[in-house]
Amino acid sequence: MSTRILLVEDHRLVREAVRDALRKEPDFAVIGEVGSSHEALQSAQSLTPDVIILDIGLPDFSGIELTRRLRQSGCAARIVALSAYAEKHFVTEMLRAGAAAYVSKNAAGTELVQAIRAVERGQHYVSPDVTGNLVSQLRDQGSDGQNRKLGRREREVLRLIAQGQRSPDIAAQLRISIGTVEAHRRNIMRKLDLHSVAELTTYALREGIVPL
Ligand code: CA
Repeated sequence: MSTRILLVEDHRLVREAVRDALRKEPDFAVIGEVGSSHEALQSAQSLTPDVIILDIGLPDFSGIELTRRLRQSGCAARIVALSAYAEKHFVTEMLRAGAAAYVSKNAAGTELVQAIRAVERGQHYVSPDVTGNLVSQLRDQGSDGQNRKLGRREREVLRLIAQGQRSPDIAAQLRISIGTVEAHRRNIMRKLDLHSVAELTTYALREGIVPL
């Protein structure tokens, strides 16, 4: 049985390129092609495709909103987002809306085929160049990664600061100089991009470095 695919993309050239890439797969059948979100909603209902490949940038409303509405309408098709945007915001919103795959428009046709095969098996797929970008953005912004970046001694110092201890007390307790405590404090603030003891305390509580 072939995989029935609906293609949603307003740019004719991209649509043709995708169609050509899929035509090489004998078990794939492109059963419909539309260029707007409204048409996509109608076609999804009338054609009941197995897989919908959709662009984020569509003329009426975005592919993210389209995915949300498809899900709300009870559409069971697996959704593969095809996008030129690799920003974390677009990827997470798309996956949160219910897409099973996120393929970069820079990707080769073989990658799109791979993504379709993955979602058919019930798996997820995100293009390697998108995940690479995602990981570096998370590393820059996320708190989990930053927490792990702290050394063991820095975590100790952070815990004592968050417990309200002053540098001389921390120095005495850890048997290090006050200057070393101050250096740790500066490094912690720089690594976490935090600027006051209050912020450090909030962070330590949130990350479980000190118990609530
Ligand atoms: Ca577009």
